[in-house]
Amino acid sequence: MSGSGLEFYLTTLLVYGGIDVIACLGLNQQFGVAGVTNFGYIIFQAAGAYTAAVLSLPKDSANGGFQSYIAGLSLPFPVPWIAGAVVGAVLAVPFTFLVGKRLRGDFAAIGLLVAAVMANLLVTNYRPFLNGDAGLALIPAPLNSTMDSQSLGYQWGYSGVAVILAAATYWFCRRLTESPYGRTLRAMRDNDVVADSLGKNLRLLRAEMLVIGGAIAGLSGAVLVGFITLWAPSAWGYAETIVLFAAVIIGGAGNHLGAILGAVLVPLGFEEATRFIPSFGPPGLIPALQWVAIGILIVAFLWFRPEGIIPERRRTSREVGDAQPPETPRPHQPSPRAASRAGNEPEEARSAAADPVVLEARVISRSFGGVHAVADVSIALRRGHLTGLIGPNGAGKSTTLAMLAGTLPVSSGSIWLEGRDITSLPAYRRARLGLIRTFQLASEFKRLTVLENLLSAVPAQAGEQLGGALLGRRHWAADEAKNVAEAREMLDRFGLSAQANAYAGDLSGGQRRLVEIMRALMARPSVLLLDEPMAGVHPKLANEIGEHLLHLCEEGMTIAVVEHELAYMDQFCDPVVVMAEGRVLAEGTMSELRRRTEVVEAYLVG
Ligand code: ADP
Ligand code: MG
Repeated sequence: MSGSGLEFYLTTLLVYGGIDVIACLGLNQQFGVAGVTNFGYIIFQAAGAYTAAVLSLPKDSANGGFQSYIAGLSLPFPVPWIAGAVVGAVLAVPFTFLVGKRLRGDFAAIGLLVAAVMANLLVTNYRPFLNGDAGLALIPAPLNSTMDSQSLGYQWGYSGVAVILAAATYWFCRRLTESPYGRTLRAMRDNDVVADSLGKNLRLLRAEMLVIGGAIAGLSGAVLVGFITLWAPSAWGYAETIVLFAAVIIGGAGNHLGAILGAVLVPLGFEEATRFIPSFGPPGLIPALQWVAIGILIVAFLWFRPEGIIPERRRTSREVGDAQPPETPRPHQPSPRAASRAGNEPEEARSAAADPVVLEARVISRSFGGVHAVADVSIALRRGHLTGLIGPNGAGKSTTLAMLAGTLPVSSGSIWLEGRDITSLPAYRRARLGLIRTFQLASEFKRLTVLENLLSAVPAQAGEQLGGALLGRRHWAADEAKNVAEAREMLDRFGLSAQANAYAGDLSGGQRRLVEIMRALMARPSVLLLDEPMAGVHPKLANEIGEHLLHLCEEGMTIAVVEHELAYMDQFCDPVVVMAEGRVLAEGTMSELRRRTEVVEAYLVG
């Protein structure tokens, strides 16, 4: 290879590398950080490329009319590139309805895959709009009227621009990901139902990710089409998306540096490696083997090293020194209410009826297929009370809690919060009104640290919206510091300071329960619904938590807790609601309930 030949080769590599890095960063932002699986990612790149092409091309009659396409505006650089990004973003908008339709993401993933397949079929078979499977050729290179696009100087210039755009994309994605907004995205990725219950608007977050990813993909397509001056639908098969997924997974999903490494190793590396392999076998064998190799690599990584080559970085808080000794929980004074409870129940019961109802379920039902999990249940939670909910397994306690919080819609009946009908409000809107729940099954955000789990719940954070994140650290640093201080205090109180920077997914079962309780409290609830919060928690600590909950009730919080331990109900809860077979069997203080044989039977038989 001559000197200039080598330079041509290197600059070409830089251009392709820059384009692949941009595309992989966009996909990593969607998939690695936010957990939005977009199997149609490639169509956004194709759309950006097409846009840039037809905006730089002259009218389609100019070259003897052998190609047909829309626009043909001969717009100057960089307008076609900007338009490519804009069209990528706009094209994502209709798909945001797909990601909003269901809480779970798999539905949207399949929908986007289908869209990508259909888009390619449409493009290939519908000539007037996009020139069919012939695609477009003779696309003017940017600035080709003032510069010789075949010169070495042009090559270096183009590769410089590609690298700068890749760096800018990295900077942009980092700014989003390393903000409270990014933490919310990662929380959504780890457990979307729980993020929803903490007041995160999943529809909006996913829509923003699709639009931003669409813009980034569109930009990468525009840069590509300006360089190769060709656009062909055969290059945008839906399977090309898999190559980018392979890059992100192998490099390290969730880590933008990993995405960059993956871009260099997979799309670029594979293309270049085959260039140097002597050809063998029938034509088409080597490209086919490439696909096999990429498939095997994806499976191998998902199996042996799912975190990729450069795993997602653990975000430790600098303020939280690891040297801190594990704190023992602050002892709680028995609350006056708990003290007065002993032997004074009738009076307690009377006072219970006097406090205002904060959250009320009016004859709610829920069936799953033919199973009536909850049937005509009415429950009223009163301000300042720690209401207990007991009943055998399958009684409908968790389902009732889920309907109160909005995680599950009711089949019939209505839910009222402070005199307002909230039946049709989605869970995140109820959470923003102060109605917070925890889950019976482990629901920590696994790949967030304990501290991050707590911070994720804080409502209305300065850097939690897209706009706030884009404004940068200076915009949200002060608010963040305040929230970190509050979270540290909470960790202190529950004796988990030493684990502040550990991944929540690595804790013991009991510790994870504590994380969930702390996280719920960080959401500043006015009504708190706890589903078996003490399961697996040391009895002594469970006791202290009970005292703390009572203390919060005295300060005006309204709490309901599902528990199996009768002793726990005895000690802390008033009133206690007994459920069995989807219905409320009885309600009253524990000693009242003990006197009722049907309650004892239901509970003991269950
Ligand atoms: P509890 O919390 O009191 O143990 P649940 O509310 O979890 O009871 O369940 C009540 C009934 O509803 C059980 O019979 C259970 O099998 C059924 N159930 C709960 N969730 C679902 C679901 N998602 N699909 C089908 N059946 C369900
Ligand atoms: Mg349950």
